[in-house]
Amino acid sequence: MHSMRDVAIVGAGPAGSTCARYLARAGHDVILIDKEEFPRDKPCGGGFSSDIIDEFSYLKDKTDEFLDGICKVGILHSPNRRISLHSRVEMAVALRTKFDAALFDAAVEAGVNTRQKSFVKGVQIKKDKVTIHLSSGDQIDCKAIVGADGVNSIVARKTGLNKMWSTKDVTPCRVSEIPVEQKEIDEMYSKERRYHFFANFNNLPGYGWIFPKLKTVNVGIGVMGPKATGLPMLFQRFIGFLEYKGLLPLNSDISAAKGAIVPTGGTIDRTSCERCILMGDAAGMVNPLTGGGIGYAMQAGRIGAKVLSKHLQEDNLSKDALKIYDELWRAEFGHEIGPLKLVQRLFTSSFTSALFEIGSRDDELQKMVASVMTEMDESKPSTSSIAARALLVCIREAFHLRKS
Ligand SMILES: Cc1cc2nc3c(=O)[nH]c(=O)nc-3n(C[C@H](O)[C@H](O)[C@H](O)COP(=O)(O)OP(=O)(O)OC[C@H]3O[C@@H](n4cnc5c(N)ncnc54)[C@H](O)[C@@H]3O)c2cc1C
Repeated sequence: MHSMRDVAIVGAGPAGSTCARYLARAGHDVILIDKEEFPRDKPCGGGFSSDIIDEFSYLKDKTDEFLDGICKVGILHSPNRRISLHSRVEMAVALRTKFDAALFDAAVEAGVNTRQKSFVKGVQIKKDKVTIHLSSGDQIDCKAIVGADGVNSIVARKTGLNKMWSTKDVTPCRVSEIPVEQKEIDEMYSKERRYHFFANFNNLPGYGWIFPKLKTVNVGIGVMGPKATGLPMLFQRFIGFLEYKGLLPLNSDISAAKGAIVPTGGTIDRTSCERCILMGDAAGMVNPLTGGGIGYAMQAGRIGAKVLSKHLQEDNLSKDALKIYDELWRAEFGHEIGPLKLVQRLFTSSFTSALFEIGSRDDELQKMVASVMTEMDESKPSTSSIAARALLVCIREAFHLRKS
């Protein structure tokens, strides 16, 4: 029986498992708690930048276990479907069941203790420790707690760091991993494995996606909070549209479709307090435009582990001491999220189709649009640079100027 762990991490998704692994490798006594048993599924597109595999290099030895291919060409379709922008931007794809299991295994291999099928229902932060209450009635004491428990984070609620998301800050989605014969996948998406985004499907703010994988095609649709009603019907409609377009076999099996929400309204104000830090979806660390959060969750996991390790050694887990965590993740990737919120507004406005029309006539604008949608480009353009480029193209064409 352990009297006191160094760190208890609630949630073994990309954020929690990554954080746990780094802490264990730094020599700390860590317990990783999840309500599910691994391997477990998580409703998701499962698309991410292959840079993640380079950045977290221990994953390189595990790609056989989780990687379901690299999609080579992204196609963005305008809301009125008249324009399709093609872009050669690679995206790795995985089934979350396998990807998260690989991250979980990496944490276990590093010496992390785990507690699966254990639902955390309460958290008490005291002066000298944190007490975690499980629904089984058991308690776990630790010096610090990490809230990596996803969009409906109990840790965020119990610590008061985030009481509740407002409707405008979330994007409800419906997603299905549809089994498709590999031969059909080759025919429909070519050997290049073309992946598609459909902006503002049915004129609703948000987008639909198709990511071809090894033996499945991941199809999903998300609509920004206030407008998200009747998603199952909309999803059916999207499937019908894709079947009609020859992007899915007729009568595709969507019986496994699930609903889930993504926190797309930007990050919460404060992600640390006395003896506690939050990361991943629990803190709203998601690209507001695409809903992508796997990479941010893992980056925050690494940063959080570094901060906790240092402050455990110094025996100072005060609110003021842990504030450095907020500063570090904001400096590494958080600064991108605010501007992307503005790009999200641009992409979900009545201006979107016009932007595609203009973009189809300008290579540079196409590159900018593609890079914000696919998250692959290091130089993520801002809303103002996209708007400025669009304006430039309009002026150039109006005055018949040469391309720059
Ligand atoms: C439909 C959809 C599509 C998406 N597509 C993509 C995509 O293609 N690419 C991308 O990068 N991102 C995508 N995302 C976002 C991505 O899934 C998240 O950003 C990412 O999973 C965040 O990781 P996390 O570790 O913070 O949380 P999660 O992956 O949600 O993990 C949280 C863990 O906490 C556990 N947990 C929760 N509550 C408790 C509790 N009370 N007690 C114990 N355990 C608990 C859960 O079981 C879970 O294992 C998508 C999201 C959705 C909903």
